Amino acid sequence: MAFTSESPLSHEFYFNKKHPIKTFYHFFDREQKNLFLAALFFIIKHSPVWAMPVVTANIINALSDAVTNPALRDGATHRIIINLIIITILAVQNIPNQSLFIYFLAKAVRQIEGSLRLSLVRKLQQLSLAFHDRTHSGAIQSKILRDVESIRNLIMVGLNNLLPAVVTFIFAFTMTLIKEPWISLLFLLSIPLAVMLIKVFRERMKSTNAVLRQDMERMNEQLAEMIEMLPVTKAHGLENTELGRLEKQFSIIQVNGLKLDVISALFGAINWVGFQLLQILCLAVTIPFVLQGRIGIGEVVLFQGLYGSVLNAVSSILNIYPDLERGLEAINSIGDVLTDEEIEENEGKEIVERVQGDIEFKQVYFSYPATKDHAIEDFSLSIKSGQSVAFVGPSGSGKSTLMQLILGLRRPQQGRILLDGKDLSTLDMRTFRSFVSVVPQSVILFSGSIRENITYGLRGFTEAQVIEPARMANALEFIQKLPQGFDTPIGEYGGKLSGGQRQRIAIARALIRNPSILILDEATSALDVESERQIQIAIEQSMVGRTTLIVAHRLSTIRNADTIVVLDRGSISEIGSYRELILQNGAFNRLVSLQEMGIARD
Ligand code: ADP
Ligand code: MG
Repeated sequence: MAFTSESPLSHEFYFNKKHPIKTFYHFFDREQKNLFLAALFFIIKHSPVWAMPVVTANIINALSDAVTNPALRDGATHRIIINLIIITILAVQNIPNQSLFIYFLAKAVRQIEGSLRLSLVRKLQQLSLAFHDRTHSGAIQSKILRDVESIRNLIMVGLNNLLPAVVTFIFAFTMTLIKEPWISLLFLLSIPLAVMLIKVFRERMKSTNAVLRQDMERMNEQLAEMIEMLPVTKAHGLENTELGRLEKQFSIIQVNGLKLDVISALFGAINWVGFQLLQILCLAVTIPFVLQGRIGIGEVVLFQGLYGSVLNAVSSILNIYPDLERGLEAINSIGDVLTDEEIEENEGKEIVERVQGDIEFKQVYFSYPATKDHAIEDFSLSIKSGQSVAFVGPSGSGKSTLMQLILGLRRPQQGRILLDGKDLSTLDMRTFRSFVSVVPQSVILFSGSIRENITYGLRGFTEAQVIEPARMANALEFIQKLPQGFDTPIGEYGGKLSGGQRQRIAIARALIRNPSILILDEATSALDVESERQIQIAIEQSMVGRTTLIVAHRLSTIRNADTIVVLDRGSISEIGSYRELILQNGAFNRLVSLQEMGIARD
């Protein structure tokens, strides 16, 4: 499915780094209607809770009237029956209205959850490789899964507790204000107590949460690495080393998690005791009022009931405070990603409508952020449209970096790269890349049919349009021999496809877009001689009519390239055709003879 900006989940989130609460507030921008309905049904469904103390007080007062004065017995019975009926109705209505309340609340919250995940994924697609270099995919997963979950939890738990608290507080306060203003002062006391408690615990909870969140991200990274490394680990019998590494991280989480649990529990206990004491105080204060005859026994029960529900409300807010901190920390965590500015600037740049395929490097320098050395140094090269150029050189000499520079995935620090005479930095790279196809060194096939893998990202193609690139990639023959041909699922048969076959599917995927520039990070080093020959045929058929750049590992596959560039530590050490370089008796010649002896590998 294509992503459209009208998608119900697409939503630009406003992030305020200094005040996560403000960010939180903005999540609800588009959900006002659902939240309003949720609040409405909440007030209705919650009514038995605040009506109960009133009804109980009425019944007790009626009873004590009836006991002290038999003449009032009939009227009292009548009052008691009415009160019982009212509270029964209020209790039963809770079933439909509770469901409606949760329905509208969950609707809003699930919408926010989905939008947040989509925003994160979209942002991750926009962020430059530099961001991905320094952020492990495990940490990113943790943000998309765990942090969004914490935020959803925060909203759900928050509203589920905040609404009752606010409504109950207002109701109880008004009730007592009418009946006995002095008692309402006691209610107000609960607020500074709550604020004080939060002030005392806030800093500790916040820092412990931040530490724990980073621990979790680290754990996710290590888990992802462990799974990737599994074949190596097993082969070397290093299971215990891996276990030890993870065990260390688990115990860090255990210790820091426990710390947080203890702080949260202490916080909960103190706030419970504090409010219990307040309630006892309330009871003590009301007793003289009864003795003076200012209020009835029913009112003592009423105030206790109201005060009980106010305290419940306030302490339930305090109880969710740890969730609140965790949620705010999660907002910070995903805010880090959503506000990261390392994205590719394409806005307002020249749209590329056609590509001839002339590429020119002019004294290009590039170094990776973490390193001092240049990965590419004083690199100048002119490639004419339709030429094929092979890049060879030892591992780490800068071949892959060079390809990423051409794709604009990385930007040179000095010098310029020109496409058809125009500086790459002035072009809209998304439009440029639709003219380029890349066959990466490690072929990535997703679960789906061979056809889906070849046509990845394309729509509205004919059968002939799929067959032709498969033929050029020298893959047609083996695909047609498979039981279901092009419809053979990669998932099931992926394991049965050889490295060379996977490589040729990847080449077909590159060719179906009929690119003006084809980049092959050729991975023939791991292939047997027969597969290598098949790939060589595929490459030679693919080069026709386009600029082709090949990172070559097997030198035999590039005999027919127009130019061979030998790289050494980011600079050109030799350049020429296969014949010329062999005759030069330099670095290339040495590489070739080493490979003929079967020694040199990249
Ligand atoms: P090749 O493809 O020829 O093996 P690369 O272009 O991958 O070489 O690497 C060139 C140099 O840049 C090497 O020294 C390598 O260690 C360094 N390098 C490559 N990728 C990164 C990266 N993401 N971060 C930091 N250094 C890198
Ligand atoms: Mg490489």
